[in-house]
Amino acid sequence: MGKSLTKRSEDYSKWYNELVVKADLAENSSVRGCMVIKPYGYAIWEKIQAELDRRFKETGHQNAYFPLLVPKSMFEAEEKNAEGFAKECAIVTHYRLKTDEDQAGKLKVDENAKLEEELIIRPTSEAIIWNTFKNWIQSYRDLPLKINQWANVMRWEMRTRLFLRTAEFLWQEGHTAHETKEEALEEAKLMNSIYANFVENYMAIPVIKGVKTESERFAGADETYCIEALMQDGKALQAGTSHFLGQNFAKAFDVKYTSKEGKQDFVWATSWGVSTRLMGALIMTHSDDHGLVLPPKLAPFQVVIVPIFKNEEQFKQVSKKATEIKTELQNKGISVKFDNRDTHKPGWKFAQYELQGVPLRIAIGPKDLEKGTVELARRDTLTKEFIQESELSQTIIQSLENIQDNLFNKALSFRDSHITEVDSYDEFKEILETKGGFVSAHWDGTAETEEKIKSETKATIRCIPDNACKNDGNCIVTGEPSQQRVLFAKAY
Ligand code: AMP
Repeated sequence: MGKSLTKRSEDYSKWYNELVVKADLAENSSVRGCMVIKPYGYAIWEKIQAELDRRFKETGHQNAYFPLLVPKSMFEAEEKNAEGFAKECAIVTHYRLKTDEDQAGKLKVDENAKLEEELIIRPTSEAIIWNTFKNWIQSYRDLPLKINQWANVMRWEMRTRLFLRTAEFLWQEGHTAHETKEEALEEAKLMNSIYANFVENYMAIPVIKGVKTESERFAGADETYCIEALMQDGKALQAGTSHFLGQNFAKAFDVKYTSKEGKQDFVWATSWGVSTRLMGALIMTHSDDHGLVLPPKLAPFQVVIVPIFKNEEQFKQVSKKATEIKTELQNKGISVKFDNRDTHKPGWKFAQYELQGVPLRIAIGPKDLEKGTVELARRDTLTKEFIQESELSQTIIQSLENIQDNLFNKALSFRDSHITEVDSYDEFKEILETKGGFVSAHWDGTAETEEKIKSETKATIRCIPDNACKNDGNCIVTGEPSQQRVLFAKAY
């Protein structure tokens, strides 16, 4: 397989698809809209999972697991949620196949095995979880209840793209129950902050925290908090969401608690999730025309050692040194792969690890052994230098920190230079066409204006940003007064 990629400037979308496949992250499967995540891609996802899981537990959440299938009547209970997801549901109607007498070797649905009640493959699990919470919550002593589930879900998406939007995807979904509205609101905001902090500090992707408008809100939520990131092609990506669900699910499933004072009330709820879409965000934020670029904190291995040798004797000597270096680095907490295969040439390995975004590459050959040096190459800057062996581990520790910071800062300056304030609709349209990115503009707060802008320009309100200072202005479309700018963008 050729290693060179289509350039981003030629065809961004083709570049992305090629990169995902050639870097061995994932591939399309023969199942419509569903992908196969390959070991290298899955190793990155596992790192994402491990760190998020740690942060969830640190803030008092526990993992549990609920069924994949949700009876239709249960799914319908919270009407807005059901209605919102209805068009994306896959439904199980039968539980058996039988031999097809008309076609040898084929099976067909056994109409005698029709389910009395259809089962929905979960597009999200509020219904089944709240149906369960009903049995778990009786008094204030049972609250707060803070549960997380790592699972797959299915949404019958029409236009799918590897990682960014697939029909089946992996995610975590947090579901919590609280005594008061304030506590639930605080939880929803806290989880959005945890997402923001993780995505910025681990994935090196800057995000804007904010709240969704009513039309972009999760079906069944009273408020949706979100983090929005900007990809290199100027399109935004919703990287995570956290919902304040009010008492909607508690009322739908009759989940009440008795307070200390003996009063009964419905509990307050949140739910929050991030998915394998984060992999897409990672790729689209940092990678270049040579392939994937990984922040060290998420790289399956941070350093790869490639031996250079011409004969068995050299291979032995170089391997001995490489193994020593590997052990030394591992003892310092750095993850290292020593690629000692003799089935591939060093040049092939260099290209492969560049494509796979390994942050640092050490090359070591007979000449290095004589001089007591190694060649160290950085993936983010594509620079190389010779390092004295005695300084190697210190240099590597510093370089890894430096790469992590450099990637974040680069993405941040790109993002910040792609937030444009506009005060007229003409300017708005021009920026969207020429520069892309986030467009910060006044909006009159109505769904009609939002819809008009969306249908005319394809830009949606990504969020009402958290830290935006109040400043009075006029809606770019209707001229009505507005107290605050909101962020628009074309989005994935
Ligand atoms: P939601 O439950 O709709 O708030 O989505 C939770 C998280 O999953 C958000 O971060 C979404 O961006 C992400 N997400 C939604 N739909 C998909 C999809 N089809 N593929 C991958 N991720 C998705």
